[in-house]
Formats: sequence, C-alpha cells, structure tokens
Amino acid sequence: MSAETRLYDHLPVAVINSDVDGRLIYANEAAINLLGDETEQTSSYWYGTWKMFDQNGKPVSPINTPMFKVDTEKQAQKEELIIENVKGEYRNLLVYSVPAFYDNKYRGATHTLVDITDQKSDDSRRAMLAAIIESSDDAIISKSLAGVITSWNKAAERMFGYTEAEAIGQHITMLIPEERLDEEVHIIGKVIKGETLDHFETMRVKKNGEQLPIAITVSPIRNRLGIITGASKIARDITRQKEAELKLQGYIENLEVFNYISKSLSENLDVKGILQKVTDATTQVSGAEFGAFFYNVTDEKGESYMLFALSGAPREAFEKFGMPRNTDVFRPTFEGDATVRVDDITKDPRYGHNSPHKGMPQGHLPVVSYLATPVISKSGHVIGGLFFGHPQPGVFTEEHARLVEGIASHAAVALDNAKLYEEIQTLNSKKDEFIGMASHELKTPVTSISGYLQIIEKNPANWEQNQQFIKKAKMQVDKLSGLISDLLDVTKIETGKLPLKLTSFNLVDLLREVIDLLANSNTRHQIETHFAADELIVFADRLRIEQVIVNLLTNAIRYSPKAEKIIVSMTSTEKKVSVSVQDFGIGIEAGHLKQIFTRFYRVDDLASHMSGLGIGLYISKEIVSRHHGKLDVTSKPGEGSTFTFEIPLKTQK
Ligand code: ADP
Repeated sequence: MSAETRLYDHLPVAVINSDVDGRLIYANEAAINLLGDETEQTSSYWYGTWKMFDQNGKPVSPINTPMFKVDTEKQAQKEELIIENVKGEYRNLLVYSVPAFYDNKYRGATHTLVDITDQKSDDSRRAMLAAIIESSDDAIISKSLAGVITSWNKAAERMFGYTEAEAIGQHITMLIPEERLDEEVHIIGKVIKGETLDHFETMRVKKNGEQLPIAITVSPIRNRLGIITGASKIARDITRQKEAELKLQGYIENLEVFNYISKSLSENLDVKGILQKVTDATTQVSGAEFGAFFYNVTDEKGESYMLFALSGAPREAFEKFGMPRNTDVFRPTFEGDATVRVDDITKDPRYGHNSPHKGMPQGHLPVVSYLATPVISKSGHVIGGLFFGHPQPGVFTEEHARLVEGIASHAAVALDNAKLYEEIQTLNSKKDEFIGMASHELKTPVTSISGYLQIIEKNPANWEQNQQFIKKAKMQVDKLSGLISDLLDVTKIETGKLPLKLTSFNLVDLLREVIDLLANSNTRHQIETHFAADELIVFADRLRIEQVIVNLLTNAIRYSPKAEKIIVSMTSTEKKVSVSVQDFGIGIEAGHLKQIFTRFYRVDDLASHMSGLGIGLYISKEIVSRHHGKLDVTSKPGEGSTFTFEIPLKTQK
C-alpha cells in the first residue's frame, strides 16, 4: 500500500482508484461507507451495478458517466450524479474523475466522490420554503429591527399594492395609519424581548390610501448565533371576517329590535303608539333615512293615502308635496301585493308617469332606494303600507325586506288586537249606558203601576175611576213585559237560542192586524197601506215576524212625532216578499245607518229625550236573517226613513 493510499484512507471524501479497464483497485473508508459492499464486487466496472440518474432524476447509462468517459477520453471529468447504492439510498454526488498517466501511458483514474446530499436537501428545503412563502395567501414580510423592509412576498404585493421592488428598503411605517404609529413601537418592543405578537387585529394602509383590516403575527428573526436581527410578520386580510362579524352584529341588533318590537306590540293596544313604534323600528332595521306609515284610506278627493306615522323626517317634508296616490309605484302596496324593493326608484319603469310632477316634486325627500310593504290584517284587509326611502341607491337588501315584512305582520296582529280592544271598549261603554237606560226604562212603568195601585188602594169605592187606573196600570205592565221579553231575546240571540216556530200564514192578515192594533193606540198618524195582494202565504215564525213589524211601526211612530202619515207597503216576486215601513220623521244621518242595527246603539242626540233601549232593530235584523232574509234602511235626515225587510218565499216546503 502506497503512502498515497494511506493518505486517502481517512479522508472524509470518498476516493476510488480504478485501472485502465475501469476495475476498482482501491477504495478508501469514506468510499466504502458511501458505496456499501460495492467494493467487493468483481464486475468489470466498479460502478457497474449502481443505478444512476441525472439531476432531474433521469436514468443515466454507465457509458455516459464521468467514470467511464475518463477512460475513453483520458481527460478529467466533473459531473453531478444521483446514485442509488446497494443500501437503496439515494445520494447526490459530485464526481471528479481524473486520469493517471505513468510514463505517458494511461494507467487508470482517480475518482473523488463528494457527497452533497445534505447540502442539496438544504437547498431544496430553502427553495420549498421560498415557494411556500411566495404562494401563501397571507402577506409575509420581514424587516430589520430598525423597521426597514427586507422581504416582501406576492401576497404582500396583492394585499398592500406595493411591488417587491417598491417595498424592500422602505420603512414599515408606510403601511401604518398615522393614528396607529404607536403600534410599531409596541411591536418592536416585543420583538426585541424575543416575544411573539400573536393574531393582533389592526388596520393598515394600502398604496392607494385605502385602509384594510388585518390580523398580524410578528415573530423575532434570529441569526445563527441566536441574536435577534429583525422580525417576520405574517398579515392576514380580515376584511371578510370583519364583514361577517359586522353582518352577525347586524343580525343580532335586528333580532333585538325585532324582539323588542314584538314584545312591545303584544303589550300595546293603542293604535297610535303601535304605528309610531313600528315605523321607528322598521326605519331603523332597514337602514332607511326616512320611513312612513300610510293608512289605506283616501282623502276627500279619493286620491291620496293618509299619512299616519313618520320616522327620520319632519311631517312638513311630506305635507308640502302631497301624499302618495294610487300610482303604479304605490298601488301594489295598497292592494296588498308583495313587498316592493327597488335599488333606484327613479330608474324604475313604473316611476314618473303621473302628472303633475312626473315623479318626485322638486325639493321632495330624495328617495332613491325604495322599499314598501303592505300591512295586512288577518281578515285580508290592507290596513296600510310601510314606506322607506334612502338618498343612496341599492341600500335595501332582501334581508331588510324580510325583516320589515316580519315586523309588518306583527304590527297587523297588534292592530287587529287594538281594533278588537277598541270595539270591546265601545261595547263596554255602550253596555254601561244600556244598564243605566234599562234601569230607567224598567223603572218608569213600575213607578206608574205603583202610583195607580196607591190611588186604587186609597179610593177602593170609586169603581169608575179605578177602572181607568187599572187599564193604565195594565198598559204599563204590558210595556214592562215587552221590555223584559226584548231583553230576554237579546240574551237568546247572544247564546244562539232564538228558536223559530215555522208555520204557513197570510202575511197580509198579519200586517193588517198589527196596523189596526197600533192605530188604536196612536191617533196622530194615518197609516196608509199599499199591498200588492190580499193574500200572501209565507212559511215563517208568525210571532217573530209580528215582532219585526211592530218594532218598525212603533219606531216610525216614535221618530216622526210631527208627521201625520206612515206608509206600509208590501210587494212580492215569485222568490221573495218585501215589506217597507216609511215615515216622514226626523230621519237618520248617513254615519249612523249601519250602527243602528247593532246592540244597544241609539243615535245620541235622540236617545236623550226619547225612550228606548237600542235593541229593537238588533232583534228585528236577527229575526229576519234567521229567516234567510235581510233588513235595510234608507233615510234622509229631516225627511224620514224607510225600513224594508225581505224574506225569501222558497223556505215554504
Ligand atoms: P230604540 O228605538 O229602542 O232606541 P231600535 O233598535 O229600535 O232601538 O233603534 C235604534 C236606533 O235607531 C234608535 O235609537 C234611533 O236612534 C234609530 N231609529 C230607529 N228607527 C228610526 C226611524 N224610523 N227614524 C229615525 N231613527 C230611527
């Protein structure tokens, strides 16, 4: 063994000597470690059994290797190769094959194999890291302790708008809004202490001046000696997250308004309060600049809807320009169609066709975004509409529309309840009035009767005179029992227990009987009759129909104190008979016509000086409708009234 080979023996680099035929003649320790038992092999080429690849991983045949080429070309070769050794390991080798000449004769070659596997994988790790940094969606920036930017990835470019060239060498404060410059002092303070700032939410400025919400994580960068030389910063754009948070916050706020409004609506029975609350709440949740509730009732001209509640604008803002009318824009709301939501109402095809303004008059509230939803009661009646406006386009979203609809339907229920409550209140006060009246009405005949009885008691002998008082007392008893049976009838109607005893009888006979009876007790009025026939057989409850006729006639007499005539007519067709009682008395104002048929209702100014309980017409109407007929009135104040009832003749079997 030569001194040379001994020198190689312990070199940390693999050294191999081969002869002119490429056969191995010497391998040092490092070579044996690298190649495994390869040195024992006796193949013609020492590297013959290796699998070899170029740097791209493509197989390389032995004749293209530097180890072979040195034999054929007799010149030094240098190449990088990847080999798979007998242990199945892949190694990156830098191969130097140098020819050896002796006496000018080629004697073989010395191959030095430098194992660069570790260095290679270091390189590829670095390349991978760089690729990760480049492809990251988060901005990754490094800076020196002085705050100078030293690296800037693609995401940073996208996020902040500066290119790498523009950013590197600049101070990091170019990204920090003026009012937040203190943050940098705090961040660097932490970095110097070796601490990490984790997920710090803040705002930064882009090249175009826009502010951007970001979350940053800043960590110290240390050199090989562990000394902190700078900081790395990972910044994530949290615009979406912030938007989502805002949205969520909005949802929660809206939900709170919604809950508040449902609660206060369910507790509220005052219409005015309900509508103001609803208008305020819906204006708030929709983000509208102004909101209004309009009742679905038109003004005297039958044109504009009635403004009721307003939010976000003074009342004059509307009153100057006239109320919404039944135009294409407003009609769907007042007809109870779906919600109308338009990003820019001035560009809507339905807009601007109506004189005189052809759109909004000058100086009107600047409505661009438009939202309107009907408020529909349970019965399907459109109570009114909620209208919202905003001077900017595209303000109202689908979600706003749904929220407003939700509140509108709650409002409708509350308004229904309030109406019911009001009706009950009126009914209650009517009932109180009735009790007062009833006591008075019942007491009057009782007082008279007891007066007559006292006179009779004092003068038992005066038979002639007593006869008169007994007659008068009997009349009062009849009146009393009439009142009591009317009251009982009301109770029967209320409880659905007004039975009918149907028989066939001549209606004309009945009319004549009643007229004769009343004519006897009332001498002032002449009762004229116009009957289309002498006989008309109906199948009905004789007593109840008599009650109706008596009631209409006594009313006609009572409410025409200055008149002298009453006309009772009867006409019939094949299907029905109608009976009218016409008087020429005080008449009834149009506003009372419907109500006089309800329980306890009396036209106020009359009630004070004429006796009555306000139940006669209620009972009559009920009796007629139980016969499948109807009772109506036409009247002119000061001229008189005509009450007509009709009953079908078909009920006769
Ligand atoms: P009452 O006559 O006992 O008050 P009704 O139910 O019969 O009760 O009538 C209700 C109300 O209708 C009366 O109080 C009165 O104001 C009005 N009314 C009824 N009939 C007439 C009539 N013929 N002319 C004018 N007003 C009438």
